Amino acid sequence: MLVSAKEMLQKAKAGHYAVGQFNINNLEWTKCILLTAQECNSPVILGVSEGAGKYMCGYKTIVGMVNGMLEELNITVPVAIHLDHGSYEGCLKCIEAGFSSIMFDGSHYPIEENVAKTSELVKICAEKGMSLEAEVGAIGGEEDGVTGKGECADPNECKAIADLGVDMLAAGIGNIHGKYPENWAGLSFETLDAIQQLTGDMPLVLHGGSGIPEEMIKEAIDLGVAKINVNTECQLSFAAATREYIEAGKDLQGKGYDPRKLLAPGCEAIKATVKEKMELFGSINKA
Ligand SMILES: [Zn+2]
Repeated sequence: MLVSAKEMLQKAKAGHYAVGQFNINNLEWTKCILLTAQECNSPVILGVSEGAGKYMCGYKTIVGMVNGMLEELNITVPVAIHLDHGSYEGCLKCIEAGFSSIMFDGSHYPIEENVAKTSELVKICAEKGMSLEAEVGAIGGEEDGVTGKGECADPNECKAIADLGVDMLAAGIGNIHGKYPENWAGLSFETLDAIQQLTGDMPLVLHGGSGIPEEMIKEAIDLGVAKINVNTECQLSFAAATREYIEAGKDLQGKGYDPRKLLAPGCEAIKATVKEKMELFGSINKA
């Protein structure tokens, strides 16, 4: 069922595991992630960036598709549809369209403006029973035009935003989006620890979860991370499996060109990646 992410993340933080946010791009992605969550009896968050929202013909189309799947596939684990790195206007559109959760990325605004805009959204989300994620300190890499330099957030600014009544907080701790470069310095656990000490029970969010070494993921969960965003890894595994199918000439054999056959290996690859992440994050059987 479609729920806000609030309760699943509070449980995760208290239980020392994390819920995965897996970004969706189309029907196959959505179906594979939902089926894997159900099979693993795990809560799950479907992430939708503004770019992916446009690609999938708008937020209303996505809500309709997800609600249809929940019913037709008999999905009973908690599922949230969450806007990823939303602009203020994007957040309002998703609230209107029936999303159950949103992220307002005000990290590029001066802290006062981030506070003002986040406060307004806190009110609206509380009325609608939706969950809200805020961001402090830009997270590096490139995601739909939002860029940064892998900075570390100021723990005091994190506390100021957390105190506004958001449900989860993303903070830059040296993490970046996309593929990690060879010379990446790693996560700043010092920053993460300082943030957790000031924000208490607030579930923390780790963006750019693709490619962070497993030991670092586990330590981050120990230090209060309760939501981890995965996007690039599903894209890479989907692309690799599809490439293998085409390079083996399977699309030229029989009806191998049928999109339902052509996309099947990529779908299986997404499922395997999602399951692997759920195991690592510890969310299996936590639905
Ligand atoms: Zn992100």
